[in-house]
Amino acid sequence: MSAGQLFAAHALLPEGWAHDVLLEWDAQGVFTTITPGSIASAAVPLAAGAVLPGMPNLHSHAFQRGFAGLTEYRSVSQGDDPAGGDSFWSWRTLMYRFALRLSPDALEAIATQLYVEMLRAGYTSVCEFHYVHHDADGKPYADRAEMSLRLLRAAQTAGIGMTLLPVLYQTAGFGGKPAQHDQRRFLNDTDAMQALLERLAPHCAAYGARLGLAPHSLRAVPHDGLARSVAALHALDATAPVHIHIAEQQKEVDDCLASTGVRPVEWLLDHAPVDQRWCLVHATHMDWDERRRLAHSGAVAGICPTTEANLGDGVFEAAPYLAQNGWWGIGSDSHASVSVAEELRTFEYGQRLGLQRRNVLASETHAQVADRLWLEAVAGGARAAARPVAGLAAGQRADFLVLDGQHPTLAGLDGARALATYVFASHGHETLAEVRTGGVCRVRHGVHPQQADAGQRFAEARARLLAD
Ligand SMILES: [Zn+2]
Repeated sequence: MSAGQLFAAHALLPEGWAHDVLLEWDAQGVFTTITPGSIASAAVPLAAGAVLPGMPNLHSHAFQRGFAGLTEYRSVSQGDDPAGGDSFWSWRTLMYRFALRLSPDALEAIATQLYVEMLRAGYTSVCEFHYVHHDADGKPYADRAEMSLRLLRAAQTAGIGMTLLPVLYQTAGFGGKPAQHDQRRFLNDTDAMQALLERLAPHCAAYGARLGLAPHSLRAVPHDGLARSVAALHALDATAPVHIHIAEQQKEVDDCLASTGVRPVEWLLDHAPVDQRWCLVHATHMDWDERRRLAHSGAVAGICPTTEANLGDGVFEAAPYLAQNGWWGIGSDSHASVSVAEELRTFEYGQRLGLQRRNVLASETHAQVADRLWLEAVAGGARAAARPVAGLAAGQRADFLVLDGQHPTLAGLDGARALATYVFASHGHETLAEVRTGGVCRVRHGVHPQQADAGQRFAEARARLLAD
């Protein structure tokens, strides 16, 4: 890595659009100064268009990229019951079948392809919620960290920033229901999880990745396992991130109510030390009081709009949560879509469809919907990643995107109009001129240098998995 500079006519700083901005970063890939109102100089490269902060992807299950698109058919008879048919739960059965066939080589091939795709789509870092730990029989690999290390290596090959979140998975439902046979690759007791964290810590440090923990969900982790594992993580690193799936499905809310008498988000806020270190992934089904308490906790709601649409989860009621300054960010989760623009667009469109209004998530500060969505998703994503990736500011990593101001779609537009067009009216990735992480250019005009090789390995790995 080497130090660098860029001059941008328009750049989206944390406080909003600025003009004639000189961006400078050091040899470690960290911004040293961001200076609006600068004078262009022949010695400093000129950005091809508006500069945006790179987007952290706060929720990914990399292996699921291998069967994205392959579950869009009816797998359950609907019968006479209009509420029957396919659901999140029938999708999960298909997903488990795929997960049971995964080898370490296949995981690395799929993850490398995915991370290359993420960079091409504007994501500059990823929080990997990783739960396929063991071999096909459910036995730990000779190195317990085998699968986790493959993910770290994939991130390194692609050049994307990473927060690695090994998943604690122990039960099949509320009340300590024993895990099912098809969950055998995911299981660890609390001591084994602590050993895995200790093994991974130096590897994450060597790559510049952040290590955290993901208790899978309240249905998969009993109270004791949750409390002990979070305490063990914070003994290793007091500010490490904790991510958990919560309230994704109505059935999960109903089961939690039946088992505990309270709703999932309410239960978590009552029983765990939820604060800015936490990311509650989905949090789709909250009542008014849960929404208020989550917003005030400082934790991040991890919203995955295209996956939530794909799985029929429900709509996150964003307007009242954002009105209370609730933190949030976006994830591509099952990777039915890998596109920052599509994720943000789907988030806003869900609100429009529900409320029969336009520009629901614009605010007093940001009349342009895309400005607000982009900035808040970067801030929330950085908090969830627990890495210095909070945008174009000194001390943050030089992770940024440059829009292509020469592309007909964006030509002649100022920064705010270019971003709005990129989010709401661009097609594919061809309007991105550059994607950089730590100041290093990873994608230029849509092309990542590893994409041909990664694509071939991905296609071969998937063909083998589908043939078995
Ligand atoms: Zn998930």
